[in-house]
Amino acid sequence: MNDEQIKRLKHILNTRQNIVIIPHKNPDGDAMGSTLGLCHFLTKLGHKAKVVVPNDYPDFLKWLPGSEEVIIHELNTKHSTSTIEKADLIFTLDFNALHRAGHSLEKILNNADTRKIMIDHHQQPEDYAEITYSDVTIASTCEMVYNVIENLGKVSKLDASIATCLYTGIMTDTGSFKFSSTSSRTHFIVGKLMESGISHAEIHQNVFDSNSYERLQLLGRALQNLKIIPEYRTAYITLSQSELDEFKFRKGDTEGFVNYGLSIKGIIFAAIFIENEQEQIIKISLRSKGTFSVNAFSRAHFNGGGHNNAAGGRSELSLDSTIEKFISILPEYQKDLAQ
Ligand code: 5GP
Ligand code: MN
Repeated sequence: MNDEQIKRLKHILNTRQNIVIIPHKNPDGDAMGSTLGLCHFLTKLGHKAKVVVPNDYPDFLKWLPGSEEVIIHELNTKHSTSTIEKADLIFTLDFNALHRAGHSLEKILNNADTRKIMIDHHQQPEDYAEITYSDVTIASTCEMVYNVIENLGKVSKLDASIATCLYTGIMTDTGSFKFSSTSSRTHFIVGKLMESGISHAEIHQNVFDSNSYERLQLLGRALQNLKIIPEYRTAYITLSQSELDEFKFRKGDTEGFVNYGLSIKGIIFAAIFIENEQEQIIKISLRSKGTFSVNAFSRAHFNGGGHNNAAGGRSELSLDSTIEKFISILPEYQKDLAQ
């Protein structure tokens, strides 16, 4: 945040505020960690703060401190709508455009003339907030929340609850501190969080060692479905709705599957296509290594976006037609993808 933004934020937080904090739809570790971390911090400053999420989130994040207080808009629309209407300040975290909060919340947020503050690290941020703290060079929104705490001169307020939430999001968005987005600042912040009484081994176990037998079987199927296109250094996985049903798919079960494609020697572009019969879409996750931008690829062809090396999107075609389309586009990227 620049000095002007810090000054304005300090001024706003000088009086007791009624605050709502909102992450993107299908919230991940960084979305939940940053919103809950900020919520604990603001509560500690004496504000009234609530996290409202667009829809449900995976069980492997439900142990996070404060999770029991989270209001799920899709399941509790009346309560969440009135909570947002009563707020005098709205933080939007880990997303860059209001439509990323889902149709229903987008409408509510557009109609609310409540002042908004954006904290986010995705490219091309929309201009809807009174304070837009956007930095695409930072690996996670959780690190940005730490920066906010530091900018306000309140690092002494860090406690185990705040630190546990922030550590979780940094860990998940950096692939456990290994993606190229991880910086020395990331490690500095993690060091500070570790001094605040967290149990990092337990956090890792809670997130990564909570597999069900069915999830591992589903991973087995995903890996069997994996195809490679060596001439474009590309790998992709498909999962149909009937395959998801066969292994009793639960939200979050496919998290991380896309990365297996990238673990193959020589592959620099990986995708996973997951059929969602209820929403009548194919949800797409894209990952890359090096300079090939999956954010640009997704924006151009699959209605999505994200970061250079991690993005998502969607297709309204059938699973087969989506794959056909995907394969037919690759030659356009010959220069980036071919050896
Ligand atoms: P994932 O593949 O894990 O769902 O998402 C990877 C990254 O892309 C995340 O930063 C996520 O916020 C972003 N992302 C995922 N799906 C979409 C989408 O449909 N639209 C946009 N703009 N970004 C997305
Ligand atoms: Mn993030």
